[in-house]
Amino acid sequence: MAKRNNDSKRYCMFCGREEGDAPMLIQGLGDACICVECVGHVNDYVKELRANERGAAGKVDLASAPKPMDIKAFLDNYVIGQERAKKQLAVAVYNHYKRLSNNYSLKEGEVELEKSNILMVGPTGTGKTLMARTIARLLDVPFTIVDATVLTEAGYVGEDVESILTRLLEEADFKVEKAERGIVFIDEIDKIARKSDNPSITRDVSGEGVQQAMLKLLEGSIINVPPKGGRKHPEQEFIHVNTQNILFICGGAFEGIERRIAQRLNTQVIGFNSAQKEQVDKENLLQYVNAQDLRAYGLIPEIIGRLPVITYLDKLDREALKRILTEPKNAVLKQYEKLFQMDGIKLVIEPEVLDLIVDTSIKNKLGARGLRSICEKIFDEAMFEAPSSTKKTFKVTLSYAREKLANDR
Ligand code: ADP
Repeated sequence: MAKRNNDSKRYCMFCGREEGDAPMLIQGLGDACICVECVGHVNDYVKELRANERGAAGKVDLASAPKPMDIKAFLDNYVIGQERAKKQLAVAVYNHYKRLSNNYSLKEGEVELEKSNILMVGPTGTGKTLMARTIARLLDVPFTIVDATVLTEAGYVGEDVESILTRLLEEADFKVEKAERGIVFIDEIDKIARKSDNPSITRDVSGEGVQQAMLKLLEGSIINVPPKGGRKHPEQEFIHVNTQNILFICGGAFEGIERRIAQRLNTQVIGFNSAQKEQVDKENLLQYVNAQDLRAYGLIPEIIGRLPVITYLDKLDREALKRILTEPKNAVLKQYEKLFQMDGIKLVIEPEVLDLIVDTSIKNKLGARGLRSICEKIFDEAMFEAPSSTKKTFKVTLSYAREKLANDR
C-alpha cells in the first residue's frame, strides 16, 4: 500500500519518500507508487543483470580459439615432459571453448555440451600448478589458485568454498562477467577425500562436507559470493556468480593411490593369462588411474562425475630435472644468466654443475621445487659481489659449486 493511512500522502514504495520529497511518483495498480529516481535505479539494475547473463553464456568464436596442438606447443615452452597430461589438458581447454561457442545460441533440442573440468593426479612438484598457470596465461583469463586444505564446511573454522570465487573476482577486478570465464586451480584436492571408503565402519567422514559444498561450484550454478571472502553472514550483500563457464582444474598427489590401482588391476587380470599381466607397467601405476580408484581413495562419486577429464603426471627423473634447469622459456638458469647480464657479466656454468644441482635436489627429495633454492645458494655470494666488480665473466666451476653447497650434501 503506498499510503501509510487514509490521510497520509502517497509515497514511493522503493525508497519510502513521500510525494513532494520524492521526484515525480508513478502510480501503479491500486495505491502502488514508484518515484522516477527509483525507476532509473531499477533500470540500471536490470541492465546489469542482463549483461551478466550475456557474459555468462558469452559468445566465443571457435575459429579464433587456439587449437589443441597450439595449446600443447605453448605448454611445451614452459613444461618439460608430462606429454600425456599436456595433450589431455589441451583437448579439455579446446572443448571448453567449443562448449562456450555451442551453448551460446542453443536451440530447443540441440545437444548441450557439458563442462570438462579436469583432475590431475601426480606427485608434488611435477608441474600441475605450472600447467594450469601456463594455460591461464595463454587464454588471458582470470586465474586463481586455492588450496583445498583451508576450505571447511560452513560453520567450521576455515574458509567457505565460496571464498574461491571471491579470489577469482579479485583477479577479475570484480568484473563478474570476466570472472565467470576464469580458471580456478584447486590444489591438494586429495586432502579433502574421505578418510575411509566405507563410512559405516568408521565415523571419520571429514572432508565429505567440503566435497559436497564444492559440488555446487563444479557443476555450474549461481553462487552467492561474499565480496570480501571469509565467512558468509546474513547482513552481507552478495555478488552472484554463475560458475557454469568457469573451468575448474583440480590437482592432488593422492599419495598411496598406487596401492589401490594395483589392487584393482590385480583383481581385473585374474583369469587372464600371464602375458596380459605383464603388460602392466608396475613402475608407473599412476598411468592407469581411473574413477574407481579415486572413489576408493575417498572422493565422492558426485565430485568425480564433475571431473570428467582425469590425467596423471609422471615423476620427474634426473634427465627431466636437468632439462627443467635449462630448457623452459623462463628456466631457472636462464633467469640467473639474465640477472648477471644486467650487470654486464656473462655467466658461464660448467656442465658438471648441472648434475650436482640435480643430484642435490634428488637427495633432498625436493624434486623440481628444490632447484631454485639450490641455485640460490650457489649464486648468492656472486650476486652480492658482481655488481661492484669489474669482471666481465663469472665462471661457476664444479669445485666452486661444491663449496657453496657444502652444508647441503
Ligand atoms: P605441483 O605439481 O605440486 O603443482 P608445481 O607446478 O608447483 O608442482 O611445480 C613447482 C615448480 O617446479 C614449478 O614452478 C616449476 O618451476 C618446476 N617444475 C615442476 N614440474 C615442472 C615441469 N614438468 N617442467 C618445468 N618445470 C617444472
